[in-house]
Amino acid sequence: MSMLQRLALPPTSAPDAPDRLQALIERTLELDRHVQRRARADLAALPELPLAPAARAQLGPKYPARAFDYQRELERDEDDAPASEAALLDEVARYFRGAIRPQSRHSLFNMVPEPSVESTAAAWLATAYNANSLMDAFGGEALLIEQQVARRIGRWAGWPDAMGISCNGGKFTIMYAIKSALSRIAPESPREGLPRDLVILCSEGAHYCVEHAASLLGLGSGRCLRVPSGSDGRMRPEALKRMLDEEHARGRRVAAIVCCGGTTINFNCEDTVEVREIADTFAREHGLPERPYLHLDSVIGWLYLSLLDADDTQLQKRVPDPRSRARIAEVLRRLRGVQGFDSLGVDFHKDGLCPYASSFFVARDHRFMDELGDGSYRYGDKDFHYGQFRAYRYTFENSRPGQGILAAWVNLRRLGRDGYGEYLAGLHDARNSLADALQRHGLFRVLNRASLGWELVFEAPFAPDLIELAPSYQDLALGFMQECWDRVNAGYDLPLFSIVPGYRIDNDPAAVTTGFLLYPMQQRSDGDWDEAVEHIAAQFHDFQARLRAQPRALGATPFEKPIR
Ligand SMILES: *Cc1c(COP(=O)(O)O)cnc(C)c1O
Repeated sequence: MSMLQRLALPPTSAPDAPDRLQALIERTLELDRHVQRRARADLAALPELPLAPAARAQLGPKYPARAFDYQRELERDEDDAPASEAALLDEVARYFRGAIRPQSRHSLFNMVPEPSVESTAAAWLATAYNANSLMDAFGGEALLIEQQVARRIGRWAGWPDAMGISCNGGKFTIMYAIKSALSRIAPESPREGLPRDLVILCSEGAHYCVEHAASLLGLGSGRCLRVPSGSDGRMRPEALKRMLDEEHARGRRVAAIVCCGGTTINFNCEDTVEVREIADTFAREHGLPERPYLHLDSVIGWLYLSLLDADDTQLQKRVPDPRSRARIAEVLRRLRGVQGFDSLGVDFHKDGLCPYASSFFVARDHRFMDELGDGSYRYGDKDFHYGQFRAYRYTFENSRPGQGILAAWVNLRRLGRDGYGEYLAGLHDARNSLADALQRHGLFRVLNRASLGWELVFEAPFAPDLIELAPSYQDLALGFMQECWDRVNAGYDLPLFSIVPGYRIDNDPAAVTTGFLLYPMQQRSDGDWDEAVEHIAAQFHDFQARLRAQPRALGATPFEKPIR
C-alpha cells in the first residue's frame, strides 16, 4: 500500500461517497474499542483495593494514568518511521491516559458534564465535513447560525440586536470584551496601540484568567484591578465607587468593569442593577463621554437567563423545590440589570450540554465588529448579505472551527429556553440530593449552605491527634486528597472530587478552612449519592487508620493547582 493510500480513508471513487462517512464511523468505533480495551487491561492489572473491592469492576472517572517526565519522554521520541496499525491504535489509547471521563458516575470534579448525543453527533459531522467558518463564502450558513445563537442568548438578556462570536473557551469571551472596551474608550488604539492611561476593574471573585487576558491584549496584568467583594460574593458598592473615583483622580481612564455572573465555587454574582447605576453615576459626575464598558462573565451564569422572564408564579411551577428556587431566584434578582450591560460570555461546554469548545461572546449590538478589527475597516449593510460576511476581520483565529456553533444550536433548538431552565432546576435538585446524602451519612459537614450555585463544599472531621502530626490542618487535608487522587489516577472507580484550600465559609475572610468540592452535573438516585459518600468516607477512615499506624511526614509537598 502506498503512503498516500494509507492516509486516505479508505480509497473512494468520489469525495462525497457515502462509504466515507461509514468508514469514519467504523474507524471511530474501532478506535473506541481499542481505547476501552487498553484502559480495562490497565485497570485489571491493578491490585485489588481492600477498602473498595468493586473499584476494578469498571472504568472510573479517569483513564488509568502513568507518571512521566515531559523532557525525558520528548528525548526518547525519535522514531520517524510510519507506525504499524497496532502501534497507531496504541498511540490513540495513550492520548487518553490520565484524561477525565465525564461519562463516569463518579466524575464529580468540576463543571464537566457529559454532552448530549445530539450536539456531539452534530459537532462530529462538522468535523467530518471539514468546513471553515472564517467567512460565509467557505463556511456557508454556519455563520448565520452563529449569529442566531448569539441573538437568542442576547434576547434572553434583553438585547434585541445582539450579535456575537463563537470561540474556543470562556477566556476568549473575556478577551473579546476587554478588547472591545479598549477600542471603545481609545478609538485610535487599534491602529496606534494602547495609551498608557487605561485600566480595567474586575471583581475580587472573578476568574483568575482576567489578568492574563489583560496581559495578552497588551494592557498588562497590572492594569487589571480587583474590587474587594463582600460576604455575598458581590463587589462592595462603596469599594467600586471609591476605586472608580481614585483611578479618575489619578488621571486614569477605566475602560471596563468585568463583572462576575457566576463562578465555579460560591457562584459569585454581581448585582447588575447596582453596578450599572454606579457606572452611570460615575460617568455623569465626571462628565465622561461614555460610562465604562460593562461585561458580565456569565460563562456559567448564562443558564439562569433561561428563567429571567419567569415571574414568581411561573418560577414556583418551573422550580418546584424551595431550596433550588431560593438560590435561583436570588441569582435572577441580581441579573435583572444585565439589559444595560455591553456584553456577556457563554460556555456551552460547561453547563450547556455541549462538547468542547463551544463558547460565545455575546454583545448587545454589532459595534464589536469594528472595535475588534485592525482599525482599517467598518462593517456596513453590505457585509450582511450572504457571500459578503467575513468574521476573520474581528476574530482571533483566521481559519475557524464551526463545531461549537452547530453543537450550541442543536441543543438550543432541541431543548428550547424552557428545556434549559429545566436543566438548571435539575442541577440544583442534584445538589440538594447530594447534600441530603451527606447528611444521612453523618460524617461530613456541608460548608457552603449560602452558595447560590449547585456545587457542594464539605468539611472532613480529621481526628485531633492526626492534626498534630501534620504541619497544619490544610496539609492533612491535602494528604488525604492526594491519596484519593492517586487511586483515581491509577484507574480505580472511586469518586473524583476536589479540594478548596483557603475556602471562606460564607465568603467570610475570618472563617477560612480547607473544604472538599463535589460537583454534581446530573441528578442521580439517592442510592447512587449514598454510594459516592460511602466511598469517600471509607477512604477517609482508611487514610486516618494508616496514618495512625504508620505516622509519616505530611505537607510541604508541592500541590497541583486546585479548582478556582
Ligand atoms: C471557566 C471559566 C472561565 C474560563 O473559561 P474557559 O471556557 O475555561 O476558557 C472564565 N470565567 C469563569 C467564571 C469560568 O467559570
